[in-house]
Amino acid sequence: MATEGDPSAVLVTGGARGIGLAIVRRFLADGYRVAFVATHANHLQRALESLSGPEDRVLAGVVDVTHQNEVDRFVDQIRSRWGEIAVLVNNAGISPKRVDDKLPWFSQMSREEWARVIDVNLSGPFTLIRLLAPSMIANGYGRIVNIGSLAGRAVPLIAGPHYAASKAGLIGLTRAAARDLAPHGVTVNCIAPGRILSDLTGPAEAAVNRSALSRIPIGRFGTAEEVADLAAFLASPKAGFITGATIDMTGGEFGG
Ligand code: NDP
Repeated sequence: MATEGDPSAVLVTGGARGIGLAIVRRFLADGYRVAFVATHANHLQRALESLSGPEDRVLAGVVDVTHQNEVDRFVDQIRSRWGEIAVLVNNAGISPKRVDDKLPWFSQMSREEWARVIDVNLSGPFTLIRLLAPSMIANGYGRIVNIGSLAGRAVPLIAGPHYAASKAGLIGLTRAAARDLAPHGVTVNCIAPGRILSDLTGPAEAAVNRSALSRIPIGRFGTAEEVADLAAFLASPKAGFITGATIDMTGGEFGG
């Protein structure tokens, strides 16, 4: 909860849909000022129309997290409107599906596709952490939450090798950044969700979702709101002794 005297500006990447939009809603409900980015203007517009709450606490921008100049410009805009950003949620992610599930992943993945996934899912968070950490250090306070994946923790059954590698890398980035930033009051943590219903997973074939469901001991998919609740806790002053952690949120699924 953002209260007087507490830091109050949050930046959420990939906030136009799915988990990111649930995180935007949650932070708004908690009283923060929330800036969020996505790549499609129409998705952002739809998200903005769906939000309730004071307009002066919301700022949305068409920003690709792999484009440093777009990120710089938007962060400048947030800072000039609200001052420093105290909470960063690196949520934007992509997970290209394989064209033919009878062929091995590696034989149908171009180097460009590999590089794009690493760029969005891993270099995007790096870009934002590098940009925002100095002001968090100067303020002696900050919260960074990275959205990883079960695919970075276990043998990926549905996602591709590029996605798994990017999310495993994000766990390493989380630990390394946490160690560097801990002495300055800045925590860095990662949430590793299992299957959460969203635009990323909903369109999968029914058979894929059925088989995914059968592997979840709790017997259901997770919700974007559950991920948002955990992100809000990790972003709160109460979570000050948790850093460098990756928290599994998988309904009990751990295997490959
Ligand atoms: P969605 O596909 O529903 O939404 C992804 C969001 O990220 C969209 O708003 C999209 O923008 C944005 N985005 C994608 N690429 C970029 C980019 N280059 N720059 C800025 N924004 C971008 O995904 P989910 O909500 O399902 O997933 C959110 C995060 O959670 C991802 O990191 C994903 O890997 C992770 N995750 C999801 C799981 C699931 O089961 N759903 C499980 C485990 C992890 P736009 O709307 O403009 O396209």
